[in-house]
Amino acid sequence: MKYKSTRGRVGLIDFQDAVIMGLGDDGGLLVPQSIPDVRGRLKHWSGLEYNDLAFEIIRLFAGDIPDADLRSIINRSYSKVVFDPAVAPVVKTGPLHVLELWHGPTLAFKDVALQMLGNLFEHILSRRGGELNILGATSGDTGSAAIYGVRGRRGIRIFIMHPAGRVSPIQERQMTTVLDENVHNIAVDGSFDDCQRIMKQIAGDVEFKRAARLGAVNSVNWARVLAQIVYFFSAAFDVQKSTGAAGVKFSVPTGNFGDVLAGWYAMKMGAPINQLILATNANDILSRFFNTGVYSTGKVYQTSSPSMDIQVASNFERYLYYKVGEDPQKLSDMMNQFGSTGSLGVPLDQQGKVDADFVAGAADEQQVLDTIAKHYRDYDYVLDPHTAVGVSTAMRLAGDDAPVICLATAHPAKFPSAIRKATGQDIGRHPAIDKLMNLPTRCLNLPGEASAVKDLIAATIGL
Ligand SMILES: *Cc1c(COP(=O)(O)O)cnc(C)c1O
Repeated sequence: MKYKSTRGRVGLIDFQDAVIMGLGDDGGLLVPQSIPDVRGRLKHWSGLEYNDLAFEIIRLFAGDIPDADLRSIINRSYSKVVFDPAVAPVVKTGPLHVLELWHGPTLAFKDVALQMLGNLFEHILSRRGGELNILGATSGDTGSAAIYGVRGRRGIRIFIMHPAGRVSPIQERQMTTVLDENVHNIAVDGSFDDCQRIMKQIAGDVEFKRAARLGAVNSVNWARVLAQIVYFFSAAFDVQKSTGAAGVKFSVPTGNFGDVLAGWYAMKMGAPINQLILATNANDILSRFFNTGVYSTGKVYQTSSPSMDIQVASNFERYLYYKVGEDPQKLSDMMNQFGSTGSLGVPLDQQGKVDADFVAGAADEQQVLDTIAKHYRDYDYVLDPHTAVGVSTAMRLAGDDAPVICLATAHPAKFPSAIRKATGQDIGRHPAIDKLMNLPTRCLNLPGEASAVKDLIAATIGL
């Protein structure tokens, strides 16, 4: 499989080059040249263990990695030591099937992609030599998952920006307690969108990017989307087997449109998915888009699901690219218009919909708390606030024509105050989190300007 850019000025390049490039050098996002149709393999695939299924799916997109190497990358990423007891188990709670994606080292779904990305980087560097400096921006969970994906790895340094004081104390400690020499935490004065802007500015400076050998771990990196495609297949197979249903729906809480985009690719490949339920919190640019066809930024609200407190969804461009018929010129025009006016629009179909593959809604703070409380009361199961956004939205929009699988994107222990507020009890606990508060930390504070971050990188790597 070769890769091209949504803006049309990169390509065609191999998978490993796409992984190293991260954001396209032309400012676009890298996408596979085509989406494979796997309908003929579903029957065989539905009997596979997670790692074997991951291998079958990923090899379709990563033909430049020898099979034996790819197997080893996958087995190391998804061993029982890393994900305990499994990568993506589905549990039944009341009427819902919950896909628990938080069994990795930082207790959030991003571990699934970032463990593999860390192993991919290491593999590529071991073949090509040289080093890689990763720059990332986090609204909370990406940072720690990325840090755990590459900590201690040779030839890789990681610089992670988070908005100072705007990630939860636990999220902050999950990052800043990692003291490996190759890990650099940066607290930026500003919002997450400021961090993303700085990152895009730096990544857009192609000369600096080359000189500093910068790579990306944000969900713009294609390998992350790819790793996430796997669990949409595995969970759909699991629930098909347990219910006998022909197809399933997924409810996906989203901010950057990464996870739900992986579900959409799975659907296009032929996974037995009838529809995707896209769920946002009060930062609802994506749910507004799928209901009106207009994608326009609003104010950023702080909510109890901070990893989705995002107005500009960095992965949306990939979806839009397909929506405009894979026309890079049209896509570039629309993104430029969005850049200058903060708004873009697509036409609605005859049913007045943007896309029948999606239904979309938003959950407000009260709905999130009520959903956590109800689920705990009725089914003795504690949802984290991000997961609750998806569950609340699914309850309203799913209908009853197919089983619904709700993605559980974090363990509730990462967000104890929301759990306490919803249930009145201190039940959002996990030993790995309890331990964090007594560990030493390391972090640097910088102003919200690209130049400050650039200077730090240059000084650290000796540029
Ligand atoms: C990152 C994150 C999300 C949103 O994921 P996207 O890929 O941006 O849609 C949801 N929940 C949690 C816990 C997260 O960390």
